[in-house]
Amino acid sequence: MKRVIALVDCNNFFVSCERLLKPELIGKPVCVLSNNDGCVVSRSNEAKKMGVNMGAPYFMIKNQFKKVVFLSGNLPFYCEISKRVMDKLYDFTPDIEIYSIDEAFLDLTGLRKTFKCSYEDIIKKIVEDIKNEVGIDVSVGLSYSKVLAKLACEKTKNLQKTLKEELIENKTYKIGYREIEKELKATLISEIWGVGKNTTALLKKHLIQTAWDFVSQEDIWIKKNLGKVGLDLKQELLGNSINPVKSIQEAPKSISRSESFKEFQTDKNFIQKELNAHIHKVCKKLRSQNLLTGCISVMLRTKDFQISDIKINLVNPVNSEFELVEHSKQILDKLFKKDIVYRSVGFCAMKLTSASTRQISIFDGEESIKKENLSKSWDKLEEKFGKGIIKMGIK
Ligand SMILES: [Mg+2]
Repeated sequence: MKRVIALVDCNNFFVSCERLLKPELIGKPVCVLSNNDGCVVSRSNEAKKMGVNMGAPYFMIKNQFKKVVFLSGNLPFYCEISKRVMDKLYDFTPDIEIYSIDEAFLDLTGLRKTFKCSYEDIIKKIVEDIKNEVGIDVSVGLSYSKVLAKLACEKTKNLQKTLKEELIENKTYKIGYREIEKELKATLISEIWGVGKNTTALLKKHLIQTAWDFVSQEDIWIKKNLGKVGLDLKQELLGNSINPVKSIQEAPKSISRSESFKEFQTDKNFIQKELNAHIHKVCKKLRSQNLLTGCISVMLRTKDFQISDIKINLVNPVNSEFELVEHSKQILDKLFKKDIVYRSVGFCAMKLTSASTRQISIFDGEESIKKENLSKSWDKLEEKFGKGIIKMGIK
């Protein structure tokens, strides 16, 4: 079956993370250094333009680039931001292969129907959500195989190098069937993901320079010289996915939901309503995966991207919004401050356990069972009449 695969890659990831903490660095040349300030591992576009090379040893270049701000790396923080980016991706599909700290492949096949929009529009939403909710810019490559998605993503980045970044509205590059030949002709085989120096040297001997030269070879020849790996590569380059997106189908560690308001907010009731909608979506996901949550948090983000959150442990794990809304109200009372302008609210359910292994507590009582049944009826109503048929009011 034809697949639709995207590669999402965070731009200048470590530098982008640092700029979340220090917004004053936006627009300035910035580099992040490896362990013990050894060498450059991430560069802002400004630093790239000044000619700072990736991997350059700090002691050798610090005097040459006096205007560049060099920062020591903070890996735990980057991991935290990486997790937030990946969590956003899981809002769109479970078919995700986290390839590195700042890259993930997504299998989007069939999601056009689910989201009732084009694949390009889904990606646009992904890019926007990550920017608005996490504060990180990403580039995306879209095509039919992992190899082509990776190539498309490289093209997005090359475009960003040549054009002014703010001029590129859509941070996506798509390689459709009609473009494959043109793209492969314009790409050296050595630039293809997974093609190493030895393979390049071997192919060069046979006058194979571009990726198109490579796919034009007979299968028999490729098999003889490169084996099955070579044949698979040819198929991937032609848009037939051989190497699938390998998602880990483990139970998630947490389920979260957040979204920016259409307009900045100072109205607590409005925020509670938005929060209730998030809680409902999270609970629905919990129930669909037969999970309960034992710990929840509510997060508020101000207009200036300041985050405040409160986490609480629950005595009995639940998956009913009727209980969680009660708890969230108490949290919001503590978090919300008058005169502060808010940008978004989020809800996260953690300490997830399987509902089937639940110990029925003697304190569980009739009340919780009633609430659980009520929640299940809600799911059924939505199945029948569509999302949003019922909304939770504010007491
Ligand atoms: Mg990256």
